[in-house]
Amino acid sequence: MIPIKTEADLQCMRESCAIAAQARELARRSICAGMTTRDLDELVYREIVRLGAKASFYKYAGFPGHICVSINEEVVHGIPGDRVIKDGDLVKVDIGAYYRGFHSDTADTFAVGKVSETAQRLIDNTRACFEAGVAFARSGARLGDLGHAVAACAAAEGFSPVRSFTGHGIGKNLHEDPAVLNYGKPGTGDTLRVGMVIAIEPMINVGTHRVVVLDNDWTVVTKDNQLSAHYEHTVAVTESGPEILTA
Ligand code: MG
Repeated sequence: MIPIKTEADLQCMRESCAIAAQARELARRSICAGMTTRDLDELVYREIVRLGAKASFYKYAGFPGHICVSINEEVVHGIPGDRVIKDGDLVKVDIGAYYRGFHSDTADTFAVGKVSETAQRLIDNTRACFEAGVAFARSGARLGDLGHAVAACAAAEGFSPVRSFTGHGIGKNLHEDPAVLNYGKPGTGDTLRVGMVIAIEPMINVGTHRVVVLDNDWTVVTKDNQLSAHYEHTVAVTESGPEILTA
């Protein structure tokens, strides 16, 4: 069963999501060459705490960081550490906040300094894939419609959506039903209803959709070591259509 949120639940989620969004915007303003991924983690973590929330990802299934920081060919679940961010890096920052009993989840990809034309095209396309998908986050749409729209948008640029990691329902738990795939067949899959809240998160690769998990059991990298980008918002299905809670 896919959980349905009450209006009171949604109000709590709006507040949780506003905190995650504020922390993400701090990361956007602060990121620069020379800082380590741990510096970024600490900065964002302090902001989440300052706003009265907890970092959703910390100790989630044993994850050691407060946020995920993934660079270049790293797709998701990068562990913050000593790695120094360099000019030309594509840095994915994924942030979750837990506040008043509800989780929020949002991610973006930042270009540090001057990046390649392909890298910029990938960033722009990943955001466009999200926009294509979120248009279907409305009552009566099927998840296959949403996934198909994401995949078609990526294919239009010759890019590939990751298939083995997906978006998800979110609420009292960080990961709830349904799985929100970045590919699909129109007219198939679960039907979205008012009160469902989902994290839509296209992970788009320049090359193959295939990925590998590194020996640290967390960091997901592209199999061909080409670039990957990630863009994510927590989205509520409402009477009046999609509401992007982490905008
Ligand atoms: Mg997520």
